[in-house]
Amino acid sequence: MINKPRGTEDILPSDSPLWRKIEQTAHSVCAEFGFKEIRTPVFEDTSLFQRGVGDTTDVVQKEMYTFEDKGGRSITLRPEGTASLVRSFIENSLYANPQPTKLYYLISCYRYEKPQSGRLREFHQFGIECFGGTSDAADAEIITLALTFFKRLGVKDLKLNLNSIGCPVCKKAYNEKLKAYFEKYRDKLCETCLTRLDKNPMRIIDCKSEICSEIAKDAPRMIDNLCDDCKAHFENTKKYLDALDIEYTVNPNIVRGLDYYTRTVFEITSDALGAQSTVCGGGRYNGLVEELGGKPTEGIGFAAGLERLVMIMKAQGLCDTEDLRPDIFIAAIGDAADLTAQKLVYDLRSMGYKAERDLCGRSVKAQMKYANKLNSAFSLVLGDDEIKNNSAELKNMSDGESVSVALSADEISSHIR
Ligand code: ATP
Ligand code: MG
Repeated sequence: MINKPRGTEDILPSDSPLWRKIEQTAHSVCAEFGFKEIRTPVFEDTSLFQRGVGDTTDVVQKEMYTFEDKGGRSITLRPEGTASLVRSFIENSLYANPQPTKLYYLISCYRYEKPQSGRLREFHQFGIECFGGTSDAADAEIITLALTFFKRLGVKDLKLNLNSIGCPVCKKAYNEKLKAYFEKYRDKLCETCLTRLDKNPMRIIDCKSEICSEIAKDAPRMIDNLCDDCKAHFENTKKYLDALDIEYTVNPNIVRGLDYYTRTVFEITSDALGAQSTVCGGGRYNGLVEELGGKPTEGIGFAAGLERLVMIMKAQGLCDTEDLRPDIFIAAIGDAADLTAQKLVYDLRSMGYKAERDLCGRSVKAQMKYANKLNSAFSLVLGDDEIKNNSAELKNMSDGESVSVALSADEISSHIR
């Protein structure tokens, strides 16, 4: 027997209503906030992610599903959504519309990681991006959208962690300071962090190894080294959040996994998740559109991991979703009854009812047992007599009461409404 690849999951019918509820909530909250859905390819040119996500990130260094296609092109399964959206924004001249461009996506992502709880090789994200939003209000708007989405789903006890990682100007001076600090621990840092030390020392703060994170605790903090513009931007962002009574913790250790962030970065975490506690991460990436060949355009967005969200919702008992039980089960004995059952089921379905019949050649007793298993609200049994009299007993399966009905979808539906 062939099993699913390591790090992938089947979303089974028992879970798909919860997934649909999450997706529908994403669609409706985005509509309220004026974000439009975009769908981009599952695979892209490898260089898009090398440039868009950044050479020094874990994603590009270790996690990408990259292969050569039959035409000799280097192709990568998308590890995230932002780079693809920036490409599409530039390629389709979306910047020519009145700005900002507000987009959202619901996608599968692929990263070659060590599979564990909340960490898969194929996973799903709900994300949004706002291009060309220059006002400081955009940062708060994005964060509010994320929180509204979780709130609408009934998710409780989330923590919003906020930080600013500055702009290329103040980041450069800060990186020098940081480098000097970590140089002292050169012989203790993990191998990955040694390469980060030269290329992107800020990423060491994000290292999950115990020794590196211990060393990073006393490192200089970006938040204390912001230039005046970045400081003002951060204060403004907090002001907008305060005005909406949104609680947050300023957490100087959040630097985010991807290279392209500037200024605001944030993470939303839940204690229900264990080690992989971040359900949503985002921030500003003012340099990315230009980096990928567009005109300088401010960008800001977030991505939420849906598998982790499902885990939180299950832990918090938030699984009551749409009712999928049939409205009616029509059992039949004999050829004539069988055909009438088929027609009635079809007519009721076209009227919007969930109508079921047997498809396994069961005896009438077994059909009723099956109707019970399906938890059908009503049942109707058709035999030769019922067909001859054009009438049958419609039974309410929860209280056992029944009424006589003519064999027409109109009449049956008037009783099961
Ligand atoms: P982490 O630090 O957990 O590796 P990340 O910084 O790599 O996260 P992002 O690239 O910001 O994550 O992705 C946004 C969200 O997508 C994460 O907060 C998380 O909820 C989810 N996510 C990321 N990688 C995975 C994965 N391998 N499996 C499941 N969900 C993931
Ligand atoms: Mg990661």
